[in-house]
Amino acid sequence: MGVLALNSLSQFLSDYPGMSTAPYSDAGVCLRGKFRFKADVKGGNEVEDFYKLEIVIPHKYPLALPRVKEIGGKIPRDGNFHINPDGTLCLGSPLRLLKKIYSATDFNVFIDKCLVPYLYAVSYKLMHGGKFVFGELAHGDQGIVDDYSDMLGLQERHQIAQSLRLLGMKKRIANKKTCPCGCGKRLGACSFHHKLNAFRDMAPMSWFRAHAMDLEAQI
Ligand SMILES: [Zn+2]
Ligand SMILES: [Zn+2]
Repeated sequence: MGVLALNSLSQFLSDYPGMSTAPYSDAGVCLRGKFRFKADVKGGNEVEDFYKLEIVIPHKYPLALPRVKEIGGKIPRDGNFHINPDGTLCLGSPLRLLKKIYSATDFNVFIDKCLVPYLYAVSYKLMHGGKFVFGELAHGDQGIVDDYSDMLGLQERHQIAQSLRLLGMKKRIANKKTCPCGCGKRLGACSFHHKLNAFRDMAPMSWFRAHAMDLEAQI
């Protein structure tokens, strides 16, 4: 991690004294321990709670997303709490998360905007039942498509996959391809390219290419 990220690491450790760095591979920095937080949402109740977590922050952050596991067994694994099959927490669709963090080298932005809201929703649900307070996306693949449909303003899955493919190409080349919005024009001739290009800073082209392939593999 760079100097900025090291600063954010010491900030994190002082904000969350139950957490400490743990040995990990050279793929990233690992933080493990008791994550105690206090949070509220507008008009909602304050929640104070803790979870035992393992957070791996990749060296490529913020161009790659951290992975978080709950290791205390407090979150039920019953399919109702957004836990991925590999045991990581499902904090939102990849592009939604990148949108929240891409401009910040400080990973405390990830903690504040992605992790704490999720844990708040889990604690709230454990205490009061009902749905996730932030409005629940369908879990997994359909949830991702629904979320991208919302972010891009496109309805169909193939339009979303095409948008991701175009983000995986150089602008100059993508602009010559058919626009995914359905206008029938080239991307470069439709105002949709402004909307699409706003995503370009969030991740490298290779990330979008791989993500498009993932999404298509599940169609
Ligand atoms: Zn989920
Ligand atoms: Zn168009």
